[in-house]
Amino acid sequence: MFRYIRLFLFAWLFLSCAAHAPALTETYVVQRGDSLWEIADRYSMSVTELKRSNGLRSHHIYPGQRLLIRSQGRSTRSSSGVEYVVRRGDSLSKIADRYSMSVTELKRINGLKSNNIYPGQRLHIRSSAAQLSRSRSYTEQSSRTTVQPSRSRPSSGYVEMDYVVRRGDTLSKIAAQYSMGLTELKRSNGIRADRIYVGQRLKVRTRLQKIAMDNGPYYFYRPKAAVQRSRGYREVPPKKPIEDYRSARNLMGVFNANINSDMRRDSRSQPLKGWRIVLDPGHGGRDPGAIVSNLDGNNRSVYVVEDEFVYDIALRLYQKLRLAGAEVEMTVISPNHLIRENNPPARTFVHEQNEVYNDVSVNRRNSFSVRPGLHNIVQRVKIANRFFARRGKTLFISLHADNTPSRPKGPLVIYWSRRGKIDSRSRSFARIMERALDLPDVPAQISGRNLAVLRGNLAQAEILVEIRNVHDKGEAWALRSHKRRDSDANRIFRGILNYAKRY
Ligand SMILES: [Zn+2]
Repeated sequence: MFRYIRLFLFAWLFLSCAAHAPALTETYVVQRGDSLWEIADRYSMSVTELKRSNGLRSHHIYPGQRLLIRSQGRSTRSSSGVEYVVRRGDSLSKIADRYSMSVTELKRINGLKSNNIYPGQRLHIRSSAAQLSRSRSYTEQSSRTTVQPSRSRPSSGYVEMDYVVRRGDTLSKIAAQYSMGLTELKRSNGIRADRIYVGQRLKVRTRLQKIAMDNGPYYFYRPKAAVQRSRGYREVPPKKPIEDYRSARNLMGVFNANINSDMRRDSRSQPLKGWRIVLDPGHGGRDPGAIVSNLDGNNRSVYVVEDEFVYDIALRLYQKLRLAGAEVEMTVISPNHLIRENNPPARTFVHEQNEVYNDVSVNRRNSFSVRPGLHNIVQRVKIANRFFARRGKTLFISLHADNTPSRPKGPLVIYWSRRGKIDSRSRSFARIMERALDLPDVPAQISGRNLAVLRGNLAQAEILVEIRNVHDKGEAWALRSHKRRDSDANRIFRGILNYAKRY
């Protein structure tokens, strides 16, 4: 017993000295279903670091086992529910606010008489509150990823925001996008005439219902299942394509309005100003792409659906590109989600067949067959070409995760080529992208293929990126982690920047 305590203390001292960081060290009690990956990910540690600081030789852990982890004052699940470790600078009201609790409630749960707290102190937090806040604390950490409209904490209600007029907008189009009346839109902006100009700021409001879930948030409606249940599981959309299209446009409007307000706060240089970029989230609608099985920490099967995860990467990339000054368009949009967190990563995304083409005319026909599928790939090229209109600084990137046993696990970049004919601009884009995606342990590859989505594309350069080969179990796991998806989006972003610098 004493030896255990001495060891524990020694490890604690060792870690806190070795790290030289203001981070606190604490123990984490392993829960059923945990894996080292997930724990490391949750505490922003590497698996190697986690194993080293706990003297672990293998990846095996067991429920009830105590692990030393670096804490940065985040909420943790412990054997006694959800705990928050107080950081320097915290106050009760700050913590209460973060977890959508009142100070009174927080004090009552923790038996506190005064408002004094101290760094390292453990506080109990309502578990539903902790769950709700998880996506928020993530958006706080990555300052630029504010995906939910500000002041939208109540699960439903009107959200007011700024809309910046873009090329091709009309007042009636904007009004329709936010389900406002034209008169209402004009009145709330003090506008008499119908004339608007690019760059003009308009106050708009929309009604959004935000549904907090471990693998969310969702809007408008939630999936029936909490995780993808099997390889064949799918959820048929409850609404008509045109209704899903309107909801999806509405969500993108909110997403854009948030990016606009981020841009106003942080007006850095815009290296991609003048570029028009189309992101094509591979699959969606009727076509899920690859669905592979993976394991959670308890050796139970979980399933990863390519289209849902790749859509998330596309949105992350969309945001980064717009913040860098580019105009961006998507070929496929979803009615019920923006960037999603899935925390823990075992909460996989469900294959919902609700995505629609980002084109009103396609969705007017009330038929399941108008949703994205393998037979209408060319629709993606049509949407892109309309957005490009003129050549010039235009790029097209189709995003996928392949499932190819014969290929190494690294990313693959594909440019158009057929019988010795090569699109050379696209090939040089692909080469630059390949270097940006290269990691020391997982090198990227490049290949020329005659793919329909790259054929007849008007972009200056067009490529298809297989960001991870999910045939590899580790890569499929990585796709489940929102942090990895964000770093994937970052790597693609860097590839685009490097290309834009040259052309
Ligand atoms: Zn694919």
